[in-house]
Amino acid sequence: MDDRTFRKAMGHFATGVTVITTALHGNVHGMTANAFMSLSMDPKLVVISVDEQAHMLEKIKESGKYAVNILSAEQQDLSMNFAGQRKTEEEIPFQTVKGVPVIEGALAQVTCEVAREYVEGDHTLFIGKVTDVHLEENEPLVFYKGKYRTLSAVEETVKN
Ligand code: FAD
Repeated sequence: MDDRTFRKAMGHFATGVTVITTALHGNVHGMTANAFMSLSMDPKLVVISVDEQAHMLEKIKESGKYAVNILSAEQQDLSMNFAGQRKTEEEIPFQTVKGVPVIEGALAQVTCEVAREYVEGDHTLFIGKVTDVHLEENEPLVFYKGKYRTLSAVEETVKN
């Protein structure tokens, strides 16, 4: 199986979109990620997967903390900014929760302390012990087959 086929198959899994944030020496760093899942209820754990090439890798290793910001349908520009696809023109509004920067207006802001890390292939899995959660009501941003979508657009596609 070639890389393209594997990538295409994985793209058939519809996901939400998150921006992972952390701060090191007072500087905030963010990275768009959809390799995120809830792992355990007791204790409350989540997991993210970070590419060995990503600047984020060393930043999380050093800070030992990160936040998962689940983006709303209105935050596609932030996803594109933190994936290095297109810079936003406005200043990005960060707040701080439990010493970790979070993105204002995200559907959920989940702050974590790194509990364990595992290098697997060309990615590192960071298991995060959840320290706090903040929620907002809004539509989620969806990523499917390499494109941004919204739930209402998906519902319309199914109807037609
Ligand atoms: P950089 O390339 O250094 O930064 C990314 C961008 O964010 C740059 O444009 C930078 O200017 C901007 N930025 C960073 N901090 C700030 C700040 N404080 N204020 C304003 N702008 C800032 N990669 C993974 O490893 N795991 C995944 O699960 C994953 N999922 C993805 C899902 C989607 C939908 C997309 C589009 C990409 C995904 N990627 C994933 C790829 C990843 O987002 C990019 O490769 C990213 O550029 C790598 O981040 P980096 O840490 O090297 O950051």
